[in-house]
Order: sequence, then C-alpha cells, then structure tokens
Amino acid sequence: MAKIGIIGAGVAGLAAAVDLKRANHEVTIFEADERVGGLAAGFKDDNWDWHLEKFYHHWFETDTHLLKFAEELGLRHKIFFPRPKTSYWINGKIYRSEISPSALLLPVSIVGKLRLGLVGAYLKLTQNWRALEKFTADEWLRRYMGQDVYETLWKPLLIGKFGKDYQQVNMAWFWARIHSRSLRLGTYQGGFQGFLDDVAQYVTEQGVEIRLKTPIQAISRQDNGQLVLQSPKDSEAFDAVLATTSPKLLLKLAPYIEGEYAQKVKALRSIGAVVVIYALRHKLLTDGTYWLNLPAKSPHKADNPFPFLALVEHTNFLSSEHYGGDNLVYCGDYIAPDHEYFQLSETTLAERFAKSLATFNPQFKADWIRKWWVFRAPYAQPVPPVCHSENIPDLRTPQRGLYWASMSQVYPWDRGTNFAVEIGRRAAALMLEDIR
Ligand SMILES: Cc1cc2nc3c(=O)[nH]c(=O)nc-3n(C[C@H](O)[C@H](O)[C@H](O)COP(=O)(O)OP(=O)(O)OC[C@H]3O[C@@H](n4cnc5c(N)ncnc54)[C@H](O)[C@@H]3O)c2cc1C
Repeated sequence: MAKIGIIGAGVAGLAAAVDLKRANHEVTIFEADERVGGLAAGFKDDNWDWHLEKFYHHWFETDTHLLKFAEELGLRHKIFFPRPKTSYWINGKIYRSEISPSALLLPVSIVGKLRLGLVGAYLKLTQNWRALEKFTADEWLRRYMGQDVYETLWKPLLIGKFGKDYQQVNMAWFWARIHSRSLRLGTYQGGFQGFLDDVAQYVTEQGVEIRLKTPIQAISRQDNGQLVLQSPKDSEAFDAVLATTSPKLLLKLAPYIEGEYAQKVKALRSIGAVVVIYALRHKLLTDGTYWLNLPAKSPHKADNPFPFLALVEHTNFLSSEHYGGDNLVYCGDYIAPDHEYFQLSETTLAERFAKSLATFNPQFKADWIRKWWVFRAPYAQPVPPVCHSENIPDLRTPQRGLYWASMSQVYPWDRGTNFAVEIGRRAAALMLEDIR
C-alpha cells in the first residue's frame, strides 16, 4: 500500500482520490480552503435551500466523463438538464444564440447567415482539431465565416473572453466549444456544491482523509526519496504526490523543477475571472434568457458599452424557489491577472456593474438589489496559442513521484469540471502504473 498526498480538493483532486483509494492506497487530500470544490464551489445565503456557484456553472449532455463518474458514485439521479435560453445582445436587442429559425433574425447578411450555418455544421462534424490548432481563431473565423459574421458575433466574444490576447487563441479552442456543447444544460440538486459535498462524503466513507484549511507551502524530498508536504500545521512524507494547483503555484511549491519541463510550465498563459452576483427583488431578463453574451468591441474595457462580458440570470435556469424567492443575476468577466478589477474594492465593482442593469430592464431601480457578492479568481481560464498540443507539460513531472493535473493541461477542450474529472483520473492511472 502506497501513501499518497493530493494537493487540492477541487474536482480533479477528488476524482483522482476515488481511483487511488479504490486501488487500496492510503490517500490524504490537503485543501487550502474551508470547503471542497475549488473553482466550482458554491455558497449559501441564510434564506436559500440550495447553494449557488460562486462562478456560474452548468454541465453539457456531452460531459461524459462527469456523467460516468456520477453514475459510478451513485449520484447520477441528482443531475438534471433543463433547456434554458442562451442569447446575444446585439445593438440593444436580444437574439437567441442557438442554431434555430431565430438565427435568421441575426443582423448579418444573407450570405453571412449561410456561411454561419455551413461553417457551424462543419465545426460540429469535423474531428480534425489538429488541423485547426495551426490557425488563430481570429484568422480562421474571419476567413471562413466572413468579415460580417466574424465582426458581429465572434470577435466581440473573443475580445470579451480573452481581452488583449484575443488574437492569440487558436481555432481548436473555438472548435471544441462548438463541437461538444449541448442545448440542454445540466446541474445538480442543491447546486454544484451539493455534488462536490456528496463526492467528498463518498471518498471520506471509503477512507480518504480530507484536511480542510490546510494550505501546502512546500513540497520537498527527504533522504529516503519520499516527498514531504509542508503545511503551517505540520509536515508529512508521501510515496507519491498529485498537485492540482495553478502552474505558478506548482513551481513555487517545487522550485527545483527545472529544465524543459519548467520552461513549458512557465510558458503557459491564463487569465482570471470576476463576478458580481446580485440578489434582486424582481426578474431582470423578462424574456426568460439565462445566458446573455454581451459585445466587447475593444480589449480596453473602458471603451466598451458594458463593464462585463456576460449577464447570467441563474433563476431563469433554476427556479428562484430554491433561493428564497431571490432573482439571482451574475455579471461576469474574464480579465488579465493585473487588471484593475482585482484591485478595486468590492463595493466599487458592485456599484460600477449595477449601473448597466437598467439597460436590460428599464424598470430596474437600485432598490431592487437585496444583497450582492463579489468573487474573483486570478487563475480561471487558460489561453491556448497556436499548435498548443506541443506545449502541454506531462502529468508526470520530472521529479519522481510528483504529478501535476491542472486546467492548463486540458486540451483541445475548454477547461471544465468534466475535464477536471478526466484529468484527475488520468493522473491517478499514471500514478497507479508507476507504483505497480
Ligand atoms: C468563471 C468560471 C466559469 C466556469 N464555468 C464552468 C461551467 O459552466 N461548467 C464547468 O464544468 N466548469 C466551469 N468552469 C471550470 C471549472 O470550475 C474548472 O474547470 C474546475 O473546477 C477545475 O477543477 P480543478 O480541480 O482542476 O481545479 P480547482 O477547482 O482550481 O481546484 C484546485 C484546488 O486546489 C486548492 N489549492 C490551491 N492551492 C493549494 C495549496 N497550496 N494547498 C492546498 N490546496 C490548494 C484550491 O483551493 C482548490 O480547491 C468555470 C470556471 C470559471 C472560473
């Protein structure tokens, strides 16, 4: 029996723990936070029955790794898939974003609509993402969808998501979004936190120890070759360690990782995320839209009509009865880690974002806001440049016994809890192979 330490009780760490424990090893998870869940974690206000995700989250029907994992743990019956409305905001109007007769209303030329349909169908069908990763999404979409469609639909989305890096992102990233997503969107009874708590309960019952509020500060090696995890409380030796942290933190915890591997880790780029969540006394998007993409014309936020990228009315996806009758609206954005949104006070951000709400509903008044919350994450979204498949560091680090599984190694798919399950389990399989 090997002694295994996992850093991080996010989805990847929990999924790895399931397989490592099943193989009869002694498994301990160290989590810096006071709860399990990482980026997918939720919180609960006093009058709510369900948790709300700090950052908006849903699953797709194509999230097979996640669904299989839930099935294995006996949790699949708690997942359900409503079909909410997702839309674009273009020139002051809401347009449905799915390929449907309503797409005919999009403000692009007839030829543009035709190209949108044909090229969209090609992206849905082709498996050849390796050919697509050689191009930036900017050049490929401009060429094949045409200037009209690109400028109206995709460029604002790319700018909104990646800011000044929008011309770096490769076309395989865009392909993955079109190729694998469903119209029905899934969640869990009690929210994602409900799922994560159930998984944590499952692993704990199997004998995994989860140590909350225990940040690991260093990974060192002792004379007998074991890896030592050091926390403010104590230090403990393990035969193998899986880190599920950001690239930056991995190199901080294990600065002796050097050479080509360290160079690859350092070269990985990512951006952060910010959300303000408002609990409103009334519905904001009265047409029932859940997800509203907002246009970003310039990488400089101040030049854009809205100070955020997406308006997500959660209670147009799930009933407000789970949340004490609150109408819950996220205003979310992706931003560089040095962006001012990471420095501004929570009150400044909440006030700044709230100024836009009347655009979506002229009845809106500041006294509709019952309460608000701000969440920020500096490591939230990897940025994949062209030919990224050649740049991804292995899950086995060059340090014997030390493994790393993070969002930055999920590719060509966009990061998500489905792929966190996949990468966590893939890391566990490698660890088991090496232990054997
Ligand atoms: C804005 C936003 C929207 C998203 N939307 C969706 C969505 O709709 N659907 C979806 O499936 N996914 C979505 N995701 C992505 C999803 O949240 C992630 O892919 C997934 O949660 C990553 O899991 P992970 O375990 O790899 O990493 P994380 O969740 O980051 O987990 C890492 C864990 O390690 C812990 N940790 C870090 N450092 C230390 C340390 N030194 N010691 C101990 N513990 C440490 C952290 O506290 C954390 O709990 C979204 C993410 C964001 C930011």
